[in-house]
Amino acid sequence: MVLADLGKRITSAVSNLTHSNVVDEKALDAMLKEICAALVEADVNIKLVANLRKSIRHTVNFKELGAGVNKKRLIQKAVFDELVKLVDPHNEPFKPKKGRSNVIMFVGLQGAGKTTSCTKLARYYQARGFKACLVCADTFRAGAFDQLKQNATKAKIPYYGTYTEVDPVKVARDGVEKFKKERFDIIIVDTSGRHQQERELFAEMVQIQAAVKPDQTIMVLDSSIGQAAEAQSKAFKESADFGAIIITKTDGHAAGGGAISAVAATRTPIVFIGTGEHLLDLERFQPQAFISKLLGMGDMAGLVEHVQSLKLDQKDTMKHIQEGIFTVRDLRDQLGNIMKMGPLSKMAGMIPGLSQMMGDVGDEEGGQKLKRMIYIMDSMTDKELDSDGKIFISQPTRMTRIAHGSGTSVREVEDVLTQHRMMAQMAKKMGKGMANLQKGGAMA
Ligand code: GDP
Repeated sequence: MVLADLGKRITSAVSNLTHSNVVDEKALDAMLKEICAALVEADVNIKLVANLRKSIRHTVNFKELGAGVNKKRLIQKAVFDELVKLVDPHNEPFKPKKGRSNVIMFVGLQGAGKTTSCTKLARYYQARGFKACLVCADTFRAGAFDQLKQNATKAKIPYYGTYTEVDPVKVARDGVEKFKKERFDIIIVDTSGRHQQERELFAEMVQIQAAVKPDQTIMVLDSSIGQAAEAQSKAFKESADFGAIIITKTDGHAAGGGAISAVAATRTPIVFIGTGEHLLDLERFQPQAFISKLLGMGDMAGLVEHVQSLKLDQKDTMKHIQEGIFTVRDLRDQLGNIMKMGPLSKMAGMIPGLSQMMGDVGDEEGGQKLKRMIYIMDSMTDKELDSDGKIFISQPTRMTRIAHGSGTSVREVEDVLTQHRMMAQMAKKMGKGMANLQKGGAMA
């Protein structure tokens, strides 16, 4: 079971309840049982699951609910809020400042995804206007420098390392000094991966930390270890103090849910999560957005941020969304951009309702579907594209003309317009602020 499946199970448990005729204790219990079973299967600590169950039961107290209360809505909101609480570390991570050198040191077990995440993070900051670079202080593993060099070159990020110096402390210090002189904003130091029992390597980590005095030390954790994440992070904390965690490989394991909740319970900020092997597969971790996406409600804010970082042409749509407007043309531009952005399945998850509409299709089939949606919009007139979509309801013959012109069916045209309507509603809420987006977007 991967994380997306966990989300689907929870969503379907909630929707079973909201679609049943009677919403009573029995129905609530059945829903809670299913949600808890799914969480336990995702390796979430049993105590945390029990707490979640208790809190939801406490919020949805049938005896005390007034007659006018919308029970279904209340239950949806309680589930959403409790899941957010489950993954929220309630702790703000360090934020790098421009105009000074911010040193970030990476630690973690071998194979956790450290080197990959270092490069992803450097690219992340680079795309946001920071001058970022990488230092390879892993002199332990043969080939480590080559790997970092290869990644950095691909991402066009300056790097420092050596094939001859064997002292990792010296390499780290030299690299950081060099880049500080060159006034880099973000200097990321990759250290060698260690195994839990290797005291020497732990000692080396402490020495590097003392030499480069990082503003933040980030620990990289592989999500497949589930709730064992807690013990692993403790072992590291006893040696080197770290301020935040990146959880990798959340694309492959439902146990990611267990790892995230275990780390959150220790109140260590989770700064990013790794969602794939590609350079762009790094997402800022935000509890509300994470749960929203997990439950198929989309993550419009994440999408906008991702798109901004790609420096695609977004001016009009951004301005529109800020004003709470979303035209059919905005949808067309967004879908066009999505096709440029890489793995479709991942992007679709960020758009409210799109992943459900695409169903369980692979990236290739999904790509075909997207193309057809774009053909449909290419058959529209400017007036139609720049409209809010209502024009099609008042004049449905337009849909027949478009289906004909694009070689698709009226049903497909209707689907595009439904998708547009959903996004327009989200944009409207976004215009009113993120808080409203999360509250109002509850699993309808
Ligand atoms: P290190 O030993 O900690 O430096 O680990 P690496 O950066 O070399 O990563 C080990 C493997 O995990 C590589 O094959 C990476 O491509 C892969 N990897 C890293 N992060 C992710 C992720 O978020 N998702 C997936 N699917 N693979 C990842």
